[in-house]
Amino acid sequence: MKRYPLRIGGQAVDPHGNTWFETQNPYTGQAWAEIPRGNAHDVDLAVQAAHRTLTSGPWAEMTATQRGALMRKLGDLIARDAAKLAATEVRDNGKLLAEMQGQLNYIPQWFHYYGGLADKIQGSTLPLDKKGYFAFTRHEPVGVVAAITPWNSPLLLATWKIAPALAAGCTIVIKPSEFTSASTLEFAELFDEAGFPPGVFNVVTGFGAEVGTPLVEHPLVSKISFTGSDATGRLINEQAARLLKHTAMELGGKSPNIVFDDADLEQAVFGAVSGIFAATGQTCIAGSRLLVQDSIHDAFVERLLAVARTARMGDPMDPDTQVGPVTTPPQYRKVLEYIDIARSEGAHAVLGGEKGGAPECGQGWFVQPTIFTEVRNDMRIAQEEVFGPVLSVIRFKDEADALRIANDVRFGLAAAVWTKDIGRAIRMSERLQAGTVWVNTYRAVSFMAPFGGYKDSGLGRENGIDAVREYLQTKSVWINSGAVAGNPFVLR
Ligand code: NAD
Repeated sequence: MKRYPLRIGGQAVDPHGNTWFETQNPYTGQAWAEIPRGNAHDVDLAVQAAHRTLTSGPWAEMTATQRGALMRKLGDLIARDAAKLAATEVRDNGKLLAEMQGQLNYIPQWFHYYGGLADKIQGSTLPLDKKGYFAFTRHEPVGVVAAITPWNSPLLLATWKIAPALAAGCTIVIKPSEFTSASTLEFAELFDEAGFPPGVFNVVTGFGAEVGTPLVEHPLVSKISFTGSDATGRLINEQAARLLKHTAMELGGKSPNIVFDDADLEQAVFGAVSGIFAATGQTCIAGSRLLVQDSIHDAFVERLLAVARTARMGDPMDPDTQVGPVTTPPQYRKVLEYIDIARSEGAHAVLGGEKGGAPECGQGWFVQPTIFTEVRNDMRIAQEEVFGPVLSVIRFKDEADALRIANDVRFGLAAAVWTKDIGRAIRMSERLQAGTVWVNTYRAVSFMAPFGGYKDSGLGRENGIDAVREYLQTKSVWINSGAVAGNPFVLR
């Protein structure tokens, strides 16, 4: 079985405790690699390495233009190794190969985009209300960044943090999810090849309590950039607040996908299916609440079922597979539990609602694509994040009713509206409480488009030019160019 090392200070090193844990292939249920079980000692070494190069090492000496060039080189190396990285992610996470090929076409562009931004970060001169001074601002790296990432899209979501943090001049210690650490460990090897100084990017794998907590609490970590569940995010935010650290929180969702009776229904069906069943529903932006206008409800559900029924489950490496396994055993149990909850609440399972079972599913953790109708928005199945291939269909009467139901949830990550009425599209996009609103599409993301949550879906933004600000702090510099000295005992 393959055994990975940690990546600390540009070196491949064994974990301090000399222990590893197994990672499993969700399609076969079999262990395929050993992941280092890091601890507080490893975290300390990694943070020290990151801090050294940030404050006095070669990274600190580099110009922003040189940093940008390294980032673009890294993007090129990711493109070169795309097939290998995609295969690792499929094996470890169960994502479809087709999805990973798409992601790995896209990930290099994050490094090209933010690499180009690195030397365009500039302060400004201040007009000032006082004579005799020249003053300006500098935007400096916030410090060592602790990136903590989830299992559902390990490389892509790590990229959303790493690229802007590097552009800002920060150094990074990342803790990937214990369920899917392999791709991040392989990705780290490319930093040396691209020519990044040792210590700029470090990976400490392991568990939340053993690696995550010491990383969050380390005195030399200035910023915690977290993507994961809202429960963990809340806990980390409390710890960070006590220690006065900066945070960015990308948390869960329960996004409404709203279909009006004037929509292009064929497109809307496509958007509803990809909204919930792509990545087996394991995306923070899953359109897990499908709001359908009363007047078309039954006909729309029929059309939806006609498409959803054809989903081919099976080996994620097979290009014909459309729905892969659930990534982790606890998540598999959680999804099945929510299906039971939905039934006990009175929702009707019109599709699926069972474990996998097709021969193509082998021993994997498969849940059939599941659609519940007769869901009320106050049911748990409509309010809580399932993070699996389970869709709740909810009826609404009119625009006001759709808006009320869509916003009546504690999350606010994304929302979509399907309509041909431009006025309605604008009104809805203004009033939906979500960080991203799509009109007549679902799931579009880009390195250029800010992404993040309203309400309990998080704090801060990733992607777009402004994401780099998350990793900067501003300094004002005052220069006395002839201010007359007054009475030194009186403040002015
Ligand atoms: P999780 O919260 O269980 O774990 C996320 C990470 O936090 C893992 O690396 C985990 O080891 C670590 N962790 C756990 N306890 C910790 C602690 N006490 N201190 C520090 N680190 C700790 O989340 P998950 O199950 O891996 O991911 C699924 C969740 O992520 C879903 O809720 C999903 O919506 C959310 N998510 C959000 C976005 C977004 O951009 N908003 C994107 C993807 C996933």
